[in-house]
Formats: sequence, C-alpha cells, structure tokens
Amino acid sequence: MREFPGTTGLVFNEPLLWEKAKKGRCGMSLPRRDVDPAPLDDDLAGDAPDFPDLSEVDVVRHYTRLSQWNFAVDLGMYPLGSCTMKYNPKINEKLAAIPGFAGAHPLLPVEIAQGALRLMFELERFLTEITGLDAVSLQPAAGAQGELAGMLMIHAFHKSKGSHRTKIIVPDTAHGTNPASAALCGYVPVKVRSNDQGILSPEAVAAVTDEETAGIMITNPNTLGLFEENISQIARIVHEKGGLVYCDGANMNAVMGIVDAKKMGVDIQHLNLHKTFSTPHGAGGPGSGPVCVTEQLARFLPVPRIVQRNGQYAFSEEYPESIGKLHAFYGNFGVMIKAYSYILTMGPQLKRVSELAVLNANYVKEKLKSVLHLPHDRPCMHECVFSDRFQKDHKITTLDMVKRLMDYGFHPPTIYFPLVVEGAIMIEPTETESKEDLDLFIDAFKAVAKEAEQAPELLRQAPGRCKVKRLDETSAARHPCLSG
Ligand SMILES: *Cc1c(COP(=O)(O)O)cnc(C)c1O
Repeated sequence: MREFPGTTGLVFNEPLLWEKAKKGRCGMSLPRRDVDPAPLDDDLAGDAPDFPDLSEVDVVRHYTRLSQWNFAVDLGMYPLGSCTMKYNPKINEKLAAIPGFAGAHPLLPVEIAQGALRLMFELERFLTEITGLDAVSLQPAAGAQGELAGMLMIHAFHKSKGSHRTKIIVPDTAHGTNPASAALCGYVPVKVRSNDQGILSPEAVAAVTDEETAGIMITNPNTLGLFEENISQIARIVHEKGGLVYCDGANMNAVMGIVDAKKMGVDIQHLNLHKTFSTPHGAGGPGSGPVCVTEQLARFLPVPRIVQRNGQYAFSEEYPESIGKLHAFYGNFGVMIKAYSYILTMGPQLKRVSELAVLNANYVKEKLKSVLHLPHDRPCMHECVFSDRFQKDHKITTLDMVKRLMDYGFHPPTIYFPLVVEGAIMIEPTETESKEDLDLFIDAFKAVAKEAEQAPELLRQAPGRCKVKRLDETSAARHPCLSG
C-alpha cells in the first residue's frame, strides 16, 4: 500500500485567548514616558475592555496552531476543484501587492491612475478573446451578481423593443444562483429537465420556449461536468422565439481557448475570475464576476465603462441605455490584477490548463468507475460525478465515504450536488495535480470503497484520525462550539 498523506501528527489543542491569558503579560513595549500623566476624559475612563494579557509568542502560537486545524490547497489535493479553490500561482498575489496597485484609491484622478485603467481595459480585451464575445463589464463582484447583470440586460433588451417577457428557462442541473437571479429580476424561472445523457435536448427546450420566454440560462459545461452538445441548436430555438441565451461561465476551466461562446449562440456570459482565473476565495472572500456580451447588447452594460480616447484611458457614463451601476466604484480591483497576471503569465498555455483539467478529470473517472457508480459514462469536462449506489447494499452513504477520505489525508469532494444525481460525489481535480497525487487520491478512494464492504462501521464513525470527529452537522451549524 502506498504511503498516504494521512492526518496524524502534531496537531495541538488550543484554548481560547482568554483562557490562555495571564494577568500582567504583555506582547509589546512602549518607550519610556517623557510627559506628565494626564487624567483621561470621563467617557474614556470607565472599565477597561476585557482584553486578554498575552505575550507575543502566545499570540503567534495561538494563531499558527489554529491555522493548522485547517486544510488548504497549499497543503494537499482539494478535489472541490476550481469551483472552490484551484491552486493559485503565488506570482499573482505578489503582483497584486505591488504598492502602486495595492495602495491605489478609487477616487484618484484618472490622470494618475492610467496604469490601473489600462490593466482593466486590457483585461476586458483578454476576456473578450477568451469568450469570443464583444464587450465586457468588470463591475460585478461575484458570479451571482454577473447573472443579475445579465438578467437586467435581458430585461433592458426586451424593453428597448417595446416588449415585456416573463419567463427564463433554467435547466435542472443549474447552480442554485441561476433561478434565484432570474427571480430576483422579476422573471419566472421555468425548469427544463436534462435527458438521460445528462444534457439538454433541443426538444425539451422547444417544448417550454414561447413568446413569453425572455431567455435561457445554460451552464456549459453543465454541473454534471458534461458538455451541452446541443447548445447551438438550443440557441437557435430560443433566438427564433425572440429570446436571448445566457451562459453561466463560472467554471471555464475546461474550455479556455477551446470554446467560442459567441459561435455557440451565446449572447451573454459571466465569468468567475475568482474560480478559473486565480483568486483564492474560500469563506466568501473577494470575487469578480465580469459579464461579457455581444455587440448588440453592449449598450446595456453597467456604467461606468472604461474607454480609450487619444491614447488616454477614462471612465465614461455616456451610455443612456445602461442598466446602471452595480458596485461601488469599479468592482474588486485586486481580483482583476490577479486575473490579468494569470492570463499574461499563462499566455497560450491557458488552453493547456483546460486540456489538463479535462485529462485529469477523465483519468479519475476511468480509474474510479470500477468502485463508484458513474451515472453518465461518457467523456467529461473538468469534473466527474459519481454516486453511492454501489455502497447502498452495505448501508454506506456518500457522506460516510468522504468523511473516511479525510483519514487518508484528502479533503472531501463536493457532495450531494448536482441534485439530479442521488448521493452525488463530484470530483474536480484541476490541472495542477500531478499523476502521482491523482494516483494517491484514487488509491485512497479505492481503499475506502473496499472498507465500505469489509469494515462499514469504520466509515460510519469516520473521520477517526482527524482532530474533530464526526459531527451532527445540523447541530454544529446551529450551536457552533467556538472554543475548539
Ligand atoms: C460558483 C458558481 C456560481 C456563483 O458564483 P458566485 O461567485 O459564488 O456568486 C454560479 N454558477 C456556477 C455554475 C458556479 O459554479
């Protein structure tokens, strides 16, 4: 058996800072006072706040220990993939920290912010090249906000034609934000089922498309990791009825430099810079969900837009049909810097990223399909989706298996999503995992599948070797224990 990364070792228990404190301990020293003491104002002189007294080393160890309770993509394979956190090259962080960028204030006069504006202008151009679309706004702060911008533009488009439509078609494999964005914009989301191959059929879309259809939201590759092969035909059906095609491009990891959205018939597409284009975003960190459109929709993009006049970059609000402003100032600039750096440092290799992401996902799929049920046995894109059907006989669930995976030193993959697969296990290895690491992961999953048959009790109690054992997840969320 191979040597798995494992999870034993020096993981310390750690009390709260208040429990650790010793009266009189101090983590800093001030220079000797050279003025007479003065009495505090009455309102400042009340009870001192209850801060713990700690030395510098107490504090350093406390936070370092807490950081070791966490798993991270810098520690090991993270099969949640680009959707949550692919490996983000450190050079991008370094460039985002250049003082001229990091210290730039959004109210700087444009004459002295030309570099920042140029970066945004060029990033927009890069994204048009990557999607095949014509114009971009970098303003949305997340994928969901990009979707909302898209829905508002669809609404503005129909309004400009004097029509008012009521429905948006959303497949059953969609990310939950899709129907939510449509509803937030006042549309009724109309569900369309994917076929037994896991993708949309033109017939199913035609059956729900009519003159009330404002548009369709398609995720491609979809959340089963499958390419919507009928997208061009579906786009034609929706366009013939006067609707628009919105593509959820949150996960571009499989298609960069390979797929041209405009040629597929897409009118609007958002991208998640914080997924595919290299920004760590765990725990709701900063995001950026640029929205890209065809020429005919460019006039509806959010303002301000970045324009180039006489060799100078500027912000322009001169777009009377714009849906308006979506974000304070211009969006999350730090995320844009990282995406810009990522795209430039990768260059034509971006296509290679997608090729490797697809290769890695298919490798995992082929190697694991003997031990895990694969509902759609066809080539996948950046991720593959299994289920726990084979383990049901032993009364072992998806949750049991992925908890046990932690004992082998791997973060659990996404589970119970997409909803169309019962007991789903979605694995997205990403492009940066080496064959050695993928093989370790595969072996670990195979070992878990064997244990499901031979020692199911071990799985039901898993994780057994981690600091925190199996939790009742509802109680853990409702009554969190914050003291470790
Ligand atoms: C992550 C994701 C979203 C939402 O993006 P946020 O930035 O979290 O708002 C939408 N669609 C898909 C397919 C996604 O994976």
